[in-house]
Amino acid sequence: MAQGVLVFAEQIDGSFRKVAYESLSEGRRLADALGETLTGVVLGSGIEEIAGELAKYGADTILVGDDPGLADYTTDAYTNVLFDIVKDNDPRILLLGASSRGKDLSARLTARLGSGLAMECTSLRLDGDNLIATRPMFGGKILAEVALGGTPQVAAIRPNVMEIIEVAKAADVERVAVNTGVVKTRVVEKRIETASKVDLTEADVIVSGGRGMGGPDFSVLEELAEVLGGTIGASRSAVDEGWRPHSDQVGQTGKVVSPNLYIACGISGAIQHLAGMGTSKCIVAINKDPEAPIFKRADYGIVEDLFKVVPAITAELKKQKD
Ligand SMILES: Cc1cc2nc3c(=O)[nH]c(=O)nc-3n(C[C@H](O)[C@H](O)[C@H](O)COP(=O)(O)OP(=O)(O)OC[C@H]3O[C@@H](n4cnc5c(N)ncnc54)[C@H](O)[C@@H]3O)c2cc1C
Repeated sequence: MAQGVLVFAEQIDGSFRKVAYESLSEGRRLADALGETLTGVVLGSGIEEIAGELAKYGADTILVGDDPGLADYTTDAYTNVLFDIVKDNDPRILLLGASSRGKDLSARLTARLGSGLAMECTSLRLDGDNLIATRPMFGGKILAEVALGGTPQVAAIRPNVMEIIEVAKAADVERVAVNTGVVKTRVVEKRIETASKVDLTEADVIVSGGRGMGGPDFSVLEELAEVLGGTIGASRSAVDEGWRPHSDQVGQTGKVVSPNLYIACGISGAIQHLAGMGTSKCIVAINKDPEAPIFKRADYGIVEDLFKVVPAITAELKKQKD
């Protein structure tokens, strides 16, 4: 009979994604409620050393799939290996992070398993043994509660939403046999766009600019982001204009973010933009049009020219820091 919670803990270049810790913490909570065990899975090449880190977030067992064939993420290899692990361990619940890779992997894996999948979950709860997932639908207009039948019940959790809780455990680390199977793709080149920039999906503070920026000069936003320890985002209009790279785009066809603070500057608040940032914990909108739809979603709104307000906020924050 299916038992326990299994969490796929994503790592890139030997560092776990923040969402891996969030998924494990959530997995620990569910496993405790069920009175069952939590297993963390890490896949990659040369990653045995970092695997033990997962014990800090409550894993009872850590399964390590360490193989040169897993050095670069490919959908085929990761699906094949994780599928075997899931079949061998028969978990009741399987959690992954809804990062770009996590979305790709969870979709392919659940198709292979014949299981349901709740994507971009913002909270999880149990109804008896059944997992009930809350997830935004229709571009974030509604929050749906989704019940998952059969096993494993698979949920991909939205990054930056769930709490990280450290619960040190003396976990068993086990190496598993890896069979990457037939892999139809191979990585020929990697281009790392902004190595020093915090990944938008994991940022605590995002200062975003839209068409209201009027051009590619985002320096006023960059200065504010620097004082706040944040990072820059953009609307699709700003990206389509060529002012920012696509990797900065927030929204339905960009990144889905949930920072503690999202400052939208010169962004009207189209539904496709809101779909990407609507679950931010605090939204501040700066727009000179009092009728801009962004104000309906904002916690704080400032009706003013952003080029006046943003430098004033930056100067005030700098003063307070000194
Ligand atoms: C299928 C599809 C997918 C899409 N995906 C995305 C997506 O992922 N992300 C996304 O963002 N959009 C997406 N869009 C586009 C979306 O519909 C909007 O067109 C876009 O979000 C608008 O960007 P914006 O708010 O920057 O520009 P606008 O709507 O033009 O708004 C600019 C705002 O700036 C304000 N402004 C101007 N000057 C100033 C100033 N000096 N100070 C203060 N305020 C000022 C204006 O009052 C206005 O409200 C998608 C659309 C479609 C059809």
